[in-house]
Amino acid sequence: MKRRLACLCAAWACAAFAQVPLPSPVPAATPRPVLAQQVSPSAWYVQGDAALGSPANRNFISNAGFIATPAGAVVIDALGSPQLARELIAEIRRVTGKGVSHVILTHYHADHIYGLQEFKKAGATIVAQRAAQEYLNSDTAASRLAVSRTELAPWIDAATQLVPADQWLDGPRELVVGGTRIHIRPVGPAHTPEDLVVWLPSEKVLFAGDLVFRGRIPFVGQANSAHWIDALNTMLGFGAEVVVPGHGPLSTQARADAELTRDYLSYLRATMGRAAREMEPFDQAYAQVDWSRFEQLPLFRAANRMNAYNTYLLMEREAK
Ligand SMILES: [Zn+2]
Repeated sequence: MKRRLACLCAAWACAAFAQVPLPSPVPAATPRPVLAQQVSPSAWYVQGDAALGSPANRNFISNAGFIATPAGAVVIDALGSPQLARELIAEIRRVTGKGVSHVILTHYHADHIYGLQEFKKAGATIVAQRAAQEYLNSDTAASRLAVSRTELAPWIDAATQLVPADQWLDGPRELVVGGTRIHIRPVGPAHTPEDLVVWLPSEKVLFAGDLVFRGRIPFVGQANSAHWIDALNTMLGFGAEVVVPGHGPLSTQARADAELTRDYLSYLRATMGRAAREMEPFDQAYAQVDWSRFEQLPLFRAANRMNAYNTYLLMEREAK
């Protein structure tokens, strides 16, 4: 992987040095437009493709939201390239007749932040949770951007920068813009250390970032499932009528979606925790667990065994 990164970076550096133009965009048949869909009287969102980032989709693979206020829009997440951000700013102006006052980042994953510099240019104040600083200042973030400048050219190019927040939050915050009250609540570490959710209490809309998986088995990966369950309980406490996730369509059955993810994580922790404490081998423990509540869900076969195994290892570490 390191070698691949080095090659890609070197290729990019040569192209820049020799002033060779970067490859022109792959003409997508119909690139998905940045089109606002209304969520509530004053909230909208734009929905990216369910895909990996590519030149054809312009890295439009995540959602962004905005809340209209008389003093400008409050945007949630900045999309995956500066061009998408410019289109979102234009769409916000078309829908609300105003510019952007703030951008709140649910987390610093590339597909949610590469548009930030355009909002900065437009005069917006950027708000994020302080734990993101560690990633932002890491070699990982820098090499990811270097690779993206090649793999996502020309949408990500030499002019695309990582942009820090103007305001780093250490705890919950109520943001009042143009008389509209917006609650920002840190809920990490769950999907990332810096996860936060954005709550519009007057209209019961929650922008949840990447915390919820809908109607399918979640991918647990290396996540801290105990904190993730806490974050879901925090989410359920809001009593949201609409949840806008970081990917995919909005949900009007927030409770069911969050409860499914929470109950699944809790069940993994209970069953694998018992096996780890009793030092029962994983294969034996896995075969004895009753999975009937979850095995009809999409992606059960693809994900469940790996999720259980990762949880078994996590519970072993927690037991020490
Ligand atoms: Zn993410």
